[in-house]
Amino acid sequence: MTTRAQGVIARWGDRLALPAMAPRISLGEGGTPCVESLTIGPSLGLASLHFKLEGLNPTGSFKDRGMVVAVANALHEGSRAIICASTGNTSASAAAYGGRFGLRTVVVVPRGHIASGKLVQARVHGATVVSVNGGFDLALRIVRELCERHPVTLVNSLNPNRIEGQKTAAFEIVDELGDAPDVLALPVGNAGNITAYWRGFREDHRDGRSTRLPRMFGGQASGAAPLVLGRPVDDPQTVATAIRIGNPASWQGAVDARDQSEGMIASVGDDAILDAQRRLARLEGIFCEPASAASLAVLERAVAEGAVAPGTHAVCVLTGNGLKDPGAVEAALTPIVEISSNAGALAHAIGL
Ligand SMILES: *Cc1c(COP(=O)(O)O)cnc(C)c1O
Repeated sequence: MTTRAQGVIARWGDRLALPAMAPRISLGEGGTPCVESLTIGPSLGLASLHFKLEGLNPTGSFKDRGMVVAVANALHEGSRAIICASTGNTSASAAAYGGRFGLRTVVVVPRGHIASGKLVQARVHGATVVSVNGGFDLALRIVRELCERHPVTLVNSLNPNRIEGQKTAAFEIVDELGDAPDVLALPVGNAGNITAYWRGFREDHRDGRSTRLPRMFGGQASGAAPLVLGRPVDDPQTVATAIRIGNPASWQGAVDARDQSEGMIASVGDDAILDAQRRLARLEGIFCEPASAASLAVLERAVAEGAVAPGTHAVCVLTGNGLKDPGAVEAALTPIVEISSNAGALAHAIGL
């Protein structure tokens, strides 16, 4: 029997397009819990709302699911080096797997727009970190160009192994809930993940493992919403740095997921994102990063607009761990109460 801790290749390898001879590597990724909402789901009138806690992956985001498959394939092909452009989490994941499996790792990031924890992760795992004076879209363009000329493996989600690995999250949701939900909500940046989930749900449905297909609801930040506008955005802006992308690589995959599932991709403002993040932390005990909270914000928008009916079974994918980006929430936190060191002052400070 395979257990969660063995990772996505051991657990789902027979359903991945990965050469049989590729090494069965793992860092214990996948197998993340689906936690039921106690407060927000009932208040929205949903039959159920679950949060898929992808922040519990080894490097704190869902990127590990696809990275393990991409790195396994890179090793199989004899590659010595991997490279990615990243808004942060792909670089953290590439650095960890690259370090563990002996590959030189280079990550290219937009200068000044990476959450502090993610940058520390890339560096502590030993990646070479290069920053560009521009956004993610520029970083990806130059990395792709470099890969055409040099023997370095690209591990962005343009690498098909990434999408393959990431589809396993859909398999897990079906396993854990006994069927696919009515609605799956997730943030959309470069659009690899919505493409991967939709593939996973369709495969489960085709194979008779689920009776229904979910409607896919994608959340983009209103300052970085190319899929909503229907055209690339030149200078995307949002507090949710993981989805600060103006020209998604998997554009068509996202449009297909939306249209084939009769779902929706809508924009949500940074205020709504931060508010959803705050309520997840305070009411549900879950600290996700801002981009992740766009899943809840878009679901709430869909409920408010009547696009999602009461009585629906919904899952929100919380893609990354809030600890990566403390700076995003600090300004809104209540101040720490300072006292002198005695019980009387403590009692006074807490109103006893
Ligand atoms: C990468 C990432 C996203 C966006 O996923 P795409 O596949 O690029 O659409 C969302 N949230 C977090 C935390 C991420 O790391």
